[in-house]
Amino acid sequence: MTEKKTAPLLQALKAYYETEFSLKEYEQVVARQPYGNREFGFLLPNNVFIRNRSFQSKELLLEYFRINAPLSAYAGAVYDQPLSPSLRIQDAEWVGHELVFDLDINEYDLVRVCGCKGREYCQQCWGLIQEAAEIMDETLKEDFGYEKRIWVFTGGRGLHCWIRDEKAFYYTPRQRDAVVSYMQMIHDPKGQQRVDPIPNAPKLLVTRIYSKTLISFLTQTEEKVIEKATGLSKQRVKRLVKEAKEFQEGEIGKPLGTWLKKSEEEQILKTAILYRYPRIDHKVSIDIRRVVRMPGTVHSSTGLISKIVESPTKFYPDDAVSVWEAIS
Ligand SMILES: [Zn+2]
Repeated sequence: MTEKKTAPLLQALKAYYETEFSLKEYEQVVARQPYGNREFGFLLPNNVFIRNRSFQSKELLLEYFRINAPLSAYAGAVYDQPLSPSLRIQDAEWVGHELVFDLDINEYDLVRVCGCKGREYCQQCWGLIQEAAEIMDETLKEDFGYEKRIWVFTGGRGLHCWIRDEKAFYYTPRQRDAVVSYMQMIHDPKGQQRVDPIPNAPKLLVTRIYSKTLISFLTQTEEKVIEKATGLSKQRVKRLVKEAKEFQEGEIGKPLGTWLKKSEEEQILKTAILYRYPRIDHKVSIDIRRVVRMPGTVHSSTGLISKIVESPTKFYPDDAVSVWEAIS
């Protein structure tokens, strides 16, 4: 951030939640019952994390924000009755939770070649998040038929995708697991990075892996990195890059991927997946009691305001507004 921080964070949060904050963006990501029997969680200014809170109306929730100016705010599932310190989520009947996907830039640490680590990002590696969002959005739309896919910049190191379609709101953990598992190709992304065998992947995904992941791997990775990662010769890599660029520019001489030799195909696709395919945080999507950061609220470790993004493939975190900018 380049802008001047004119007030300490806690003071800025107080000013923001008193005068600028609204629940408009939050209401745009939830499928039903934004208030009432929904759970909320907060990281308070004294660093105490609390959850099991419900608010009977929008006004009461806004008032809570004005009084407490939390460091972070999260929304969870809907239950059969309002939550409170004396009626916790384990004592209530679960009703529903939006299906949410999480993409974080630090999941790419083992394959980032720009030098960024952890929460850091730059134009180059954020491109991985943009590309992952494109593939996921297409998969969620075309393979699952979800119509209401709302992408949100978390204010931190990545994006969330909220599925607002009613049917997904009632999914069991097992159903959520099936959706994530369908898309997931990389297991243990921070360790072994196991990649599922490509022939086992659903056909629609395989087509996407060729047309998007393989092409972007070959056209956007330095040739030296491709050589090292695939074990192919300099000459062979040059040839493949040329074919991929021609495909990208629409000069399709040969059908996509037929220029790969059978003997090298598996290794190249596996490497392309490792470098460019979405790395989804599986546990976020399957946990039906999880509380998720609310768009419109401040991410206190960056000071950026979490926001809905119209086009996740074009969004860069510098486009977000900080709490200091919001109150100035
Ligand atoms: Zn980077």
